[in-house]
Order: sequence, then C-alpha cells, then structure tokens
Amino acid sequence: MRLGIHIPLKGGFASNLMRVKEQGCQTIQLFAGNPTAWRMAPPNREEIEKRAGLAQEQSIYPVVIHSAYLINLATRSEEFLEKSIYLLNETMQRAALYRAPYVVLHVGNHGGAGVERGLDQVVEAIDGSLAQWPRGVKLLLENTAGSGTALGSSFEELARVIGSFPPRTIGICLDTAHGWAAGYDFSTADGVKELLDRFERLIGLDNLCVIHLNDAKVARGSRVDRHEHIGHGQIGLDGFRELLRQPWPDGMPAILETPEIGSDWDRKNLETLQSLLE
Ligand SMILES: [Zn+2]
Ligand SMILES: [Zn+2]
Repeated sequence: MRLGIHIPLKGGFASNLMRVKEQGCQTIQLFAGNPTAWRMAPPNREEIEKRAGLAQEQSIYPVVIHSAYLINLATRSEEFLEKSIYLLNETMQRAALYRAPYVVLHVGNHGGAGVERGLDQVVEAIDGSLAQWPRGVKLLLENTAGSGTALGSSFEELARVIGSFPPRTIGICLDTAHGWAAGYDFSTADGVKELLDRFERLIGLDNLCVIHLNDAKVARGSRVDRHEHIGHGQIGLDGFRELLRQPWPDGMPAILETPEIGSDWDRKNLETLQSLLE
C-alpha cells in the first residue's frame, strides 16, 4: 500500500509535490482542471509532461486524477449528459498526459428518475465512451455518501455498474467517509472485516484500485459527506488500523482527502496513518 494525499491546484504542482514528498507521500491525487468548471483549459502538454516526469523522478506513483464534481452521467438533462460525457472524455485524455492510471468519478445523481434508470444511464454513457479512452487509463467509480439522489452509495449499486462490463474494464475507489455516511461500519476491526467480505462477494476486491482515507464528522448512516482528520472523527483509529493492515497489493494507493489540505494537518494525518501501519 502506498500512502498519499490529494494535492491542491493552487500553489503550483511542483512545489505541492515536493512538499508532500517531504512529508512522506508516495502517491498523489489531483484535479486535472478546475473541478467546478465545464470546460478545461486546453492542455499545456509540455507543462503536464514536465509534471509527470517530476512525479516519476520523485517516485510519487501512481498519480490519480479526480474528475470534476459537475460530471453527472445519471442526469435527466440531455444537455448536462452531453457536457458530462465530453468532460469525462477530456479528463481521461488529460490523465494519459499525466501518465495517471486512474480517473476517479462519482457515479452520479439520478435527480428523481429512480435508481434503476439512473444506473442504466450511467452504464450506457460509459459504454458509449470507452472506445475513445486512452489505453492504460482506467475509470474508477467512487462510492458516495448517498445524500439526495446520489447513486453508488451501496456496494450493490457499484456492482451493478461494473458488472455490466467485461472484468477489469472499470474499477472502484472506496472512500471511508462516504462508506461510513452510507452506513458501512469502518470504525471497528469486525466492521471493517465484514464490509470487506461484503465487497469481495459483491464486487471483488481485485476491482478495488484506490482507497480514500478520510475520517467522518457525521454519524454512521447519516448520508452526509463531511470529511474529518484521521482519528478526530466518528470512525476513529481502530477501524483505520484494521483497514490499513489488510494484505493490500504493494502498489495500491491510499489517499487522504482530509480538511484543510495544504496545511500542517497533512503531515499530522500522514503521520497518524504511518503509525497505524507500524
Ligand atoms: Zn470523490
Ligand atoms: Zn473521496
């Protein structure tokens, strides 16, 4: 398992990378563009290749790209669906420039159309786009807290989407705070064992490609997405210890998305994780 953190866009890629490297990061996640904008600025290839080279030189890998929050493959609006597909495709291309093997995507919000219809539309949208995606970049569906009409808060819903494709076409990113908010018990060793067994049965742990490590401010099952520093929230250290000590593949990235990214908290959260691994 490789520990890392989501790095902000502001402050510059190189200085953020060197800062987290010094804090002990082995992997990073970042947005490929403004996460709240429909259009990405055209890629500055030279700059992105430089960034990819720097990450490689500093042994920071893999680089994980988080897609923009605006993308909603389950939207009821034709216009937003078209924009979502376009932006997702752009993000996949951008990930290839970063030599990033993974793009993380929230499954989507059905907006009242219903879970079944929403999931069908997500499958259809992915199916129609797959052929254009660069080789070596895999789409990962991230589990959600399940607020409102958000899809993908249960392992069953994630399984429905990824099970619609040939094995290993797409994968999963498991976020602990989202899973907790959706009702999964990440707080105890037994809880973690049970939910991983469930994941294995429904999805298969070999489809789990990235873990997002976040404590949660809110109660289990609250369906509210509020991240907290590791050990300072409702999940607590016992659950994270159990999760981290599973026999994960060596290269599996586990990435922090804790509050106040870029502050001294980054180092504290990383140190907490490292102490749990010892
Ligand atoms: Zn996310
Ligand atoms: Zn996350």
